[in-house]
Amino acid sequence: MAQTYANYINGEWVPSQTGEVFPSINPARTQEVLGYFQKSNAADTRHAIEAAAESFISWSRVAAPLRGEFLYKLITLLEEKREELAETITREVGKTLKEARGEVNKTIASMKQLTGEVTRLSGQTLPSFDEQVFAYTVREPIGVFAIIAPWNFPLGIGLWKIVPAILAGNTVVFKPASNTSLISVKLVELLVEAGVPAGVVNLVTGPGAVIGEELTRNPLIKGISFTGSSEVGLALGKAVGARGGKIQAEMGGKNPAIIMPDADIDLAIDCIVTSGFLDNGQRCTGTSRVIVLPEVAAEVKAKLIARAEAIRVGDGFDPNSVNGPLADEHQLRTYLHYVQKGIEEGAKLECGGKRLQGGGLEDGYFVAPTVFTGVTPQMTIAQEEIFGPVIAVIDAGSFEEAMEVANQVEFGLSSTIFTNDLKKAFQFVKGIQSGVTHVNMPSTHFESHYPFGGKKISGLGPREQGESALDFYVELKTVYIRP
Ligand code: NAP
Repeated sequence: MAQTYANYINGEWVPSQTGEVFPSINPARTQEVLGYFQKSNAADTRHAIEAAAESFISWSRVAAPLRGEFLYKLITLLEEKREELAETITREVGKTLKEARGEVNKTIASMKQLTGEVTRLSGQTLPSFDEQVFAYTVREPIGVFAIIAPWNFPLGIGLWKIVPAILAGNTVVFKPASNTSLISVKLVELLVEAGVPAGVVNLVTGPGAVIGEELTRNPLIKGISFTGSSEVGLALGKAVGARGGKIQAEMGGKNPAIIMPDADIDLAIDCIVTSGFLDNGQRCTGTSRVIVLPEVAAEVKAKLIARAEAIRVGDGFDPNSVNGPLADEHQLRTYLHYVQKGIEEGAKLECGGKRLQGGGLEDGYFVAPTVFTGVTPQMTIAQEEIFGPVIAVIDAGSFEEAMEVANQVEFGLSSTIFTNDLKKAFQFVKGIQSGVTHVNMPSTHFESHYPFGGKKISGLGPREQGESALDFYVELKTVYIRP
């Protein structure tokens, strides 16, 4: 019998006032329930918000370097529990153990990057027009923040939002994705064990729309840091913005890879397979459009299809699996919907496009990596985010046309070009409408000491990570003193 887990509010593990729970299941074996979680409502959310508001009074007054003490313990705990955390990620979201270990390692790197931030909460001193006046700026905490996270990097994204928020002196209400409630409970347990005081981090599990409505309209919530779909993120931004709250939203992508005639094709294919198919393409920065020039189109298509067909799909714990199952049933339905759309609109399905069952895969959300060719820029599969292992190959007659196609979407998260022509590479970097870009690299590559975020409907508000990680969570005060 799977365990029932509680919300964490004001330093205590408490049940929801609804008395209801929901399961989180293993997407590789859908009969396996990993735990039951609180199906929280608006009243539970208010309870968490009020606890966070009360704790803000004392936490915001702790000297910044002392606030950061918990982070050293947190890093030690993450390192000690690396394997247990990776296994929980694999069990709950389906990614392979290798990918899950990668997520834990990236999370540790990101936490290490943040260790010095409390002593770098710097302001400015600039000369005043008045010799008698001393002027400077300070960065101050703001209050309670809502942290709404997705399921695709359930440990990493949760922590790289919560930790900067509380380092800056704020308190938080954390609403994780429902299908990764178990890893999210473990994440909060780690913060508690690391010494984060009661009320500073509060966890509320349950339906996004219900909890989200309270987080959006409650005036004690000063800002929302959200990662997820553009549809939800833009709506949250509008609602919270209307009452003067702050929004940081990291959202969807439709990331292009341009392959030029002079490119190293094998390198390009390696990078596209990594960024478009691994993790089943369930990465916001994953390559989903390959835009190819005529000289190399046939070679690119043949090699990409061959590599897609060779990807071994199976349980994430099987060391031979390159891909695990999709994360949940919703993901499966979305994948099948877009495959159907692609066929209906006249694209050529070259491989994949189906659920995989049989041979030990009967009971999971396993699907085949999919390549469409003959895709035109206005087709649905070239415009909308699929967030699955589907690559649309689009032919372009020239570099200029390839650039136009690359930018002809609403999204602007990541991008890449494969070329050895330095001039073309720079033209691409300058002209591409994306918050992150690459040359001869996978579109998914990121390093946690650089800022991360998107343009257009892929991103709202200040960047996450890097030097700017705390920017969203502080307000500047400008001080003029005449002694
Ligand atoms: P989603 O449906 O937007 O959900 C994201 C989070 O929002 C979940 O915690 C969800 O809770 C919650 N939520 C849902 N409806 C809500 C509402 N009305 N108000 C408030 N919260 C609500 O996205 P997803 O399917 O989980 O994640 C995939 C998306 O995330 C993709 O679009 C992907 O590109 C994007 N993503 C972006 C980045 C980035 O950094 N740019 C990184 C990773 C993922 P429930 O689970 O309870 O519904």
